[in-house]
Amino acid sequence: MPFKAPYPQIDLPVTDIFSLLFKRKDRTIPDDHTIFRDATSNRSYSFADVEQKALDFGKGLKALYEWKKGDVLALFTSNSIDIPPITFGTLWAGGILSPANPAYTVSELSHQLHDCKARMIATQIEYLDKVKAACSEAGLFHDQIILLGESRDRSGRIKHWTSVRNISGATRFRPTKINPKTDVAFLVYSSGTTGKPKGVRLSHYNLTSNVIQVQWSEQFNLTWDGSKTFGDIPLPGPGGDKILACLPFFHIYGLTMFVLSPVYSGVTTFVMEKFEIKNWCSLVPKHRITYSYIVPPIAIHLSKHPIVSSFDLSSIRMINCGAAPLGKHVVEAVFKRTGIRIKQGYGLSETSPGLFHQRWEEWLSGAGSVGWLLPNMEAKFCQPMEESALEREPTQELKVGEVGELHVRGPNVFLGYHNNDSATAECLSPDGWFRTGDIGYIDKNNNLHITDRAKELIKYKGFQVAPAELEALLIQIPEVADCAVIGINSQALETEVPRAYIVMAGKAAISMTEKDGESIAQWLAQRVAPYKKLRGGVKFVDSIPKTASGKILRKVLKQSALEE
Ligand code: AMP
Repeated sequence: MPFKAPYPQIDLPVTDIFSLLFKRKDRTIPDDHTIFRDATSNRSYSFADVEQKALDFGKGLKALYEWKKGDVLALFTSNSIDIPPITFGTLWAGGILSPANPAYTVSELSHQLHDCKARMIATQIEYLDKVKAACSEAGLFHDQIILLGESRDRSGRIKHWTSVRNISGATRFRPTKINPKTDVAFLVYSSGTTGKPKGVRLSHYNLTSNVIQVQWSEQFNLTWDGSKTFGDIPLPGPGGDKILACLPFFHIYGLTMFVLSPVYSGVTTFVMEKFEIKNWCSLVPKHRITYSYIVPPIAIHLSKHPIVSSFDLSSIRMINCGAAPLGKHVVEAVFKRTGIRIKQGYGLSETSPGLFHQRWEEWLSGAGSVGWLLPNMEAKFCQPMEESALEREPTQELKVGEVGELHVRGPNVFLGYHNNDSATAECLSPDGWFRTGDIGYIDKNNNLHITDRAKELIKYKGFQVAPAELEALLIQIPEVADCAVIGINSQALETEVPRAYIVMAGKAAISMTEKDGESIAQWLAQRVAPYKKLRGGVKFVDSIPKTASGKILRKVLKQSALEE
């Protein structure tokens, strides 16, 4: 029997994102309430500003570019308060957003632009050269690039985003009719359980559901006007809660928590262009920040970094940490040192992303777990698929409480991978069960503990590194006969790091040295975004352990790394 979420079943309206956020009847947030504020310059947008600018942009797309339903706008930017209006305007016009990491190389970006068939791309001046080169590679034209930031005076083919508006004044532009359950809103890239990064098709309903599910599980504890309180957690003070948006908006976690949710909850969100620890610590007292969403490396900074003790961080009521594992010892160390409470959440790009969130009252007693399953969801645990087993062999369902591979079903589970039916079939069953590739168990308090990962994915500081992508590059080196990439735990960096095992061909195999390994790592570093570097080093081996069908036995390599 599947495990049901311990919450009551909640009402999830079947609606599109723009309507949920801007047109809902029960909204209490005033029009002039500030939703987004630039944490450095103080430039801000009220609720009404975001809506108006989104409508201007959406109508501009229709008027100037004859934007059609399903057209894709790629985003290649650092964080900015201009991203919400661009996002909501594109959705209003029936478009799909596909965000990419601005650390990508030209070929990584052009691959995504090509794969998602982007019609336009929004970027900032510092990334313009890279974007132009990637557009040329992917066959996009320069008049399909729009710029964010202050440079309004750009003339010629590249336009500033604010000039994408309906200057004709025609009133004929109406919102595009959306089917919330089947129309895609976001195409984010993830490697899933196996292979290279793929476009994850997230529908409007996936996202509207997850905004409300997360609201139910934890955001009701946040308040935009200070009118609510919760247990023994201190009140936010005048002006309500204030969120510090320090994670990238191009990842689904930052996108939902810092772009979508604030418009629903009304909680003012202070936007950092990029995370930097000293800046983060100084912005907390400056804006009296009460809440944030972080990843484990930030928690580790809070527990250890010398700069942290120079700042008063006492305005923070709670922080949520997700995207990679966080040990109980870190939660305790941060609280002891700074008084900051950290709870955990867990999810995936394929689940829009929230799946499990720790409840506020259990932040310490449940530390180490990722909390309760979100409302309207079911979970089951199955015997982890053996690497040596046939790929689609059905696995046995386990009793709740036993350690197994987590499968989930619910309204936030994605529609499938873009143009990749076989990858979809491998993890999404016809009756809606999604195989997460994560291993864990549910304890007697209904809290999930993630204990391992069955899938290939490596997470470097919360960023996805797909072994298959690095292997496909390494095998291009003529002397490399075979290779495999796995994640190993780096104690120094307190994260997983990619390591390559390489079989050299012919004579080259005889006397490889550490230096040869370093030059291979450097060769790869020139071809990938910095977070994908082989920080775990290169090991030369005689052969790569494989199944009879040729699948890499990564567990064997991981075991030998552990034994070192
Ligand atoms: P992404 O699609 O980039 O969000 O990556 C999803 C994967 O990150 C999950 O399948 C997990 O392996 C990992 N992950 C996310 N949150 C947590 C967490 N709180 N604890 C452990 N692993 C996590």
